[in-house]
Amino acid sequence: MKIDLKNKVVLFTGATGGIGAASVRALAQYGATIAVHGHTQSRKAVQLARIIGNRSQPFFADLSQSKNAEKLFKTVLGAYGRINVLVNNAGLYHASPMNKSTDGWLADWDKTMTVNLTSAAILCRSAVRHFRKLGGGRIINIASRAAWRGDTKDYLAYAAAKAGMVAMSKTIARAYGKDNIQSFVIAPGYVRTPMTAKYIREHGTVSIIRELALNKMTGPEDVAPTIVFLASGLMDHATGGTIDINAGSYVR
Ligand code: NAD
Repeated sequence: MKIDLKNKVVLFTGATGGIGAASVRALAQYGATIAVHGHTQSRKAVQLARIIGNRSQPFFADLSQSKNAEKLFKTVLGAYGRINVLVNNAGLYHASPMNKSTDGWLADWDKTMTVNLTSAAILCRSAVRHFRKLGGGRIINIASRAAWRGDTKDYLAYAAAKAGMVAMSKTIARAYGKDNIQSFVIAPGYVRTPMTAKYIREHGTVSIIRELALNKMTGPEDVAPTIVFLASGLMDHATGGTIDINAGSYVR
């Protein structure tokens, strides 16, 4: 069994984050060219693209403005001429307590939905249209355990957005399989990244590890190999499926 991602262009959103950076490094080790998406014009994205090589380049888009999602896809397509794999990984985990004003709660809801679902959906739509012309392609959507299990009370929007991502991904898999388009979901539990850093700073990892079947908290390096594997084509017959990476904390 050989994994070769040479000549594969991967558009990876949120590439400078915890799961993103580990995964683009792993994909590049197998030869992939990465469109390294960063939220803002950060040196991190520029440096990461340079380090991983393979003609990888940084691209910037604020995905809280949904119009930027299609623009991002077109810009990457303009730069490389094709995209073979889309990884929708950018996301935010924003608390919104129920006792907030309705307007404030709704603004939080809209922001989470836009970044975590609407922009991902626009990118999926652009990818499907492009892949149909190209003769195929793969989509990997990074959802969450929350999509299946639910989240805590302040994260209604997060769980709903991730569940939406799962339903969207299944639909793409069922609708476009005959066009050689595959669509997968990865559903991580708690992963040690900047997203969980505040919680870990305040509460430590004991309460997280207590929930796990394993003894060690999941790291970005525990998610990256699955992304490589899904991108490679070796998992194409799992299209429409969700891979849980939660250290046994929630077994469906
Ligand atoms: P992270 O905070 O390190 O990375 C998130 C990435 O999303 C960052 O690169 C950030 O720049 C990008 N992003 C956020 N808002 C954006 C915006 N408005 N426009 C463009 N990009 C934006 O966190 P992570 O843990 O690496 O998260 C990666 C994915 O994994 C997310 O979708 C997250 O929901 C999911 N996830 C994470 C965990 C966890 O415990 N860390 C658990 C389940 C799912």
